[in-house]
Amino acid sequence: MKAFIDHDGCIACELCTEICPSVFRMSEDGDHAEVYVDEVPEEFIEDAEDARDSCPVEVISLED
Ligand code: SF4
Repeated sequence: MKAFIDHDGCIACELCTEICPSVFRMSEDGDHAEVYVDEVPEEFIEDAEDARDSCPVEVISLED
C-alpha cells in the first residue's frame, strides 16, 4: 500500500504525524505533512487508515 498527501491542501495540523509517525512527518519548513516511506509497512496500515480518516481536509489517500 502506498500513501499520498495533496500538499497544497494540507493545513499542517500535524494530526497524521501524531497518529502514524512511521509513515507521515512534517516537511522541513513545517508547511505541510509528507509521506516518507515508499510502501506503508503492514503493521502500520491500520494507523495510516486512521490518519487518512482523521485528516480534517481529507488530503490523504491510500492505494494498494
Ligand atoms: S492530518 Fe491532513 S491537514 Fe493535518 S497535517 Fe496531516 S495531511 Fe495535513
